[in-house]
Amino acid sequence: MLKVTFLGSGAAVPAAGRTNIALVVESDKHAPLLIECGPTILLQLTKVGIPPDRIRYLFLSHRHGDHTLGVPMFLLYRKLYNRGSPLTILAGRDTLQTARTLTDLVYPGILTLPDHVEWHPLPEGEAGHEELASGLLLTTIPAPHVPGIPSLALRLDFLDEGRSLVYSADTGPSSDLVSLAAGCDLLIHEANFCEALMPEVNPASYGHSTARIAGRAAAQAGCRLLALVHIHDAYGGREEVLAKEAATEFSGQVLVPQDGTVLYL
Ligand SMILES: [Zn+2]
Repeated sequence: MLKVTFLGSGAAVPAAGRTNIALVVESDKHAPLLIECGPTILLQLTKVGIPPDRIRYLFLSHRHGDHTLGVPMFLLYRKLYNRGSPLTILAGRDTLQTARTLTDLVYPGILTLPDHVEWHPLPEGEAGHEELASGLLLTTIPAPHVPGIPSLALRLDFLDEGRSLVYSADTGPSSDLVSLAAGCDLLIHEANFCEALMPEVNPASYGHSTARIAGRAAAQAGCRLLALVHIHDAYGGREEVLAKEAATEFSGQVLVPQDGTVLYL
C-alpha cells in the first residue's frame, strides 16, 4: 500500500489555511520521498508528525522559491539532529545549484560539514530514468513552465505494491505529461487557475494549467484518481468549483486535498 500525505497544496502565495505545495510518498517497503521544499517545510512536516530526518529522498521540480526556499532550513535540521541517515536530493542541475547557493548564502559553510547528503542531478532537457531502490522506479520529463526555469514532472512506479503516481510540477498543457501519466493510479496535477473563476486568464502564458486542463490530462492518460494542487490564493473556499471543472473532462474521482490530507493507494 502507498501512503501519500499532502503537506501543502497552495500556489506561491497560498490561500488562508493552505501552505505551499509539498507531499510525502511512502510505502511499507520504501522510505519516505518528499516532493518540493517550500519556505515552511519544517512546520509542514511537524504538523503531520513526520520527522524531517525520516525523509530518504527529496525531489525538487524547479528553482522557484515556493519549491526550494525551505532547503536551507531542511538541511539545517539535519545538521542539528540527524543521526547519520542518508538523504538523496534529486533535481535538475539548475535547481540543485540554486538550492546549494541558497543554503550556502544563509548558512555559510554548512555544505562542507559531513551530512550524508547526495546531490543527484537529473536530466533537464530530456526524459530521465532511475531505479531509486529495488522496485522503486523514477521517471522524469521536462515540464513546460517558465522560459529559463527548467521544471521536471515525475512518475513513481512502486513495482511490488503495483501502484504508480505522477506529479505534474508547475506546468502548462503537455502531451508528454499525458504519456508519462498513462494508466497511473494517481495524477497530482497543478490547477493554478480555473476557467470558471478567472475566464480572462490564459494559463499557458503563465506556464500553468487550469482545472479543466488537469481533468483533460487525467482523462487522456486513463488515470484512476486526480488530485488538484498548487491552488491560487484567490480560490480559497471555492475548491468545489475547481473539482467540478476538472470533472467535466474526467469521469474518475477528483479531489482538492487540504493541507494534511492523506491518501492510501
Ligand atoms: Zn514555478
